[in-house]
Amino acid sequence: MFDLVIRQGTVIDGSGAARRQADVAIHEGRIAEVGSGIGRGREEIDATGRIVAPGFIDAHTHDDLAMLVQPHMRPKISQGVTTCVCGNCGVSLGPLPDGPLPEPLSLLADGPGTRFRSAPLYLEALRDQACAVNSVPLLGHSALRATVMDRVDRAATAGEVAAMSALVEEALRAGYHGVSTGTFYTGAAHATTDEVIGVCAPLSRHGAVFATHMRDEADRVLDSIDETAAIGRALGVTTIVSHHKLGGLANHGRSTETLARIAEHRAGQGATPGFDLVLDCYPYTASSTVLRADRVRSAERTLVTTCDRHPQYVGRDVAQIAAELGLSIEAACQHLQPAGAVYFAMSEIDVERILAWPATMIGSDGIPLQARPHPRLWGSFPRVLGRYCRDRGLFTLEAAVHKMTGLTAARFGLADRGLVAAGMAADVTVFDAASVIDRATFDEPEQDSVGIDWVIVNGQVAWAQGQVGALAGRLLPPGGATTRLKPAVKGRRD
Ligand SMILES: [Zn+2]
Repeated sequence: MFDLVIRQGTVIDGSGAARRQADVAIHEGRIAEVGSGIGRGREEIDATGRIVAPGFIDAHTHDDLAMLVQPHMRPKISQGVTTCVCGNCGVSLGPLPDGPLPEPLSLLADGPGTRFRSAPLYLEALRDQACAVNSVPLLGHSALRATVMDRVDRAATAGEVAAMSALVEEALRAGYHGVSTGTFYTGAAHATTDEVIGVCAPLSRHGAVFATHMRDEADRVLDSIDETAAIGRALGVTTIVSHHKLGGLANHGRSTETLARIAEHRAGQGATPGFDLVLDCYPYTASSTVLRADRVRSAERTLVTTCDRHPQYVGRDVAQIAAELGLSIEAACQHLQPAGAVYFAMSEIDVERILAWPATMIGSDGIPLQARPHPRLWGSFPRVLGRYCRDRGLFTLEAAVHKMTGLTAARFGLADRGLVAAGMAADVTVFDAASVIDRATFDEPEQDSVGIDWVIVNGQVAWAQGQVGALAGRLLPPGGATTRLKPAVKGRRD
C-alpha cells in the first residue's frame, strides 16, 4: 500500500520528453513508481484530464523572509511552485549589520527579525521554521559588502575581498548553494569585476552557482553580459544572468543581440570545465525594484508598490504624484523614499524571445511582503503555461514544464528534484492545461491562479483545489539528494 497514488493523469516528466498516460505512486516522500496498473494508495487523487508534472522550481525569488513569516507560502504554492531559490540580486538576510542599509537591501530586510548576524544563522532559522516549499538559498554580495565594509560607495580593498571570501566559504560549508550579485545597485555598482571574482573564489571548490543582476540591463547590456561571462569563466561555475531583460525604449528589440552574445559565450564554454552560462526570465513587460528617478525616466509608466511613509500613494503613478505635489520626478522620488516601484519599460517581443530561448529558466523575481506587489509574485508560472505556451504557442507544454523543473534542477545541482521518475523526491504539481492561467493583476496582485489543482511537496499535499495544506518543505542540500524526507509536521503519517 502506497501513501498516495495519483491516478489516470498525463505525465509530463520535466525532462522535455513527450507526455504519456501513467499513474504515479508516492511512498515515504519519494516517487515509488510511474506506470500503469500500480497498486492502491492510502490516499488517491483522480487526475483524469490533468497534467502531472514535477513541482515547479522558482529559479529567482526574494522569498528569504517570506519563508520564515508566511510558512504556507500561498503566493508560490498556489502556482504549483514547490522550491524557491532565494537570496538573489546580491540581497540575503545574513550576514547583515545593524544600522541603515544601502539599496536594495533596505527593500527586503526591514523591521525586526529580518537581519541575521551570520549566513549560517539564517539557515538555522530556515531549518527551524516549517514551510510549504523547499528552499535553495544563495548568499548576497551586497549583504557581504554591508557587513564587511565601513562604506560601500567604493571598491573593496584586498583585505575586504579576503574577508568576504571567507564568509562565502563559511556559508557554502553551512549549506548555501551559491552567491548572487547586484552590481546594478548603488553601492555594489562600485565593485570591480576582480572584486566579484575574488569574493566568489570559493564557488569553484564547491561547484556552487553564481547568479547576477547585471550592472546594466539597458544601453550597456552587451558589456554586462561579457563581464558576467568573464566572471563565470574565471570561476568555472554555472553562471546565471538573472531576470534577463532589456530596459528602455531605445533598447527594445535588442534581445536578438543579447541572446546571440550569450550563445557565443555558451559555444566557447566547453574550454572551461564547470562554466555554463544560462539565464532566467519572468513573463511580464514590467519590472519591479526600489523607486529610482533614473528608472522612472526610462519607463513608460511607474507605479508605487510600497511606501510606508506615504501609504496613500501605493498603486499610484509616480508622474501623477509628482504633478499633484508640484514636484519634479527627482523630488517626488525623494519625497516617497524608501519606496518600491513597478516600471513598464520592456517590449513584449523581447519578453517572448527570451522566454522561448532553450536555455531560459522561469524565475518569478517576485517581491513578497509589499503593500501592492508586482503580480509576478503570484502569477508567473501559470502565466507561462497559459498565456505563453497555450495561448501564444511560444513552445510546447513539455518545453514549458522543462523550463520550470528539470532544466532548473540540473542547473542548481538538485539531484533528486525536477523530474517525475521513480526514486525522485515527491514534489509534484497536478494542473489543468486547458484552463491554467494567472489572475494576479497590477491593480489586484494577490490572486490565486486558475487550474493548479494539487501540489505535493516531499510526498505531502501542500495545496488541494484552493486549500493550503502541509508544511513539508526542506532546506535542500547543495550538490546532492535530500537524505531524510520525514514529515516536518507532527501528526502527519509517515
Ligand atoms: Zn534583480
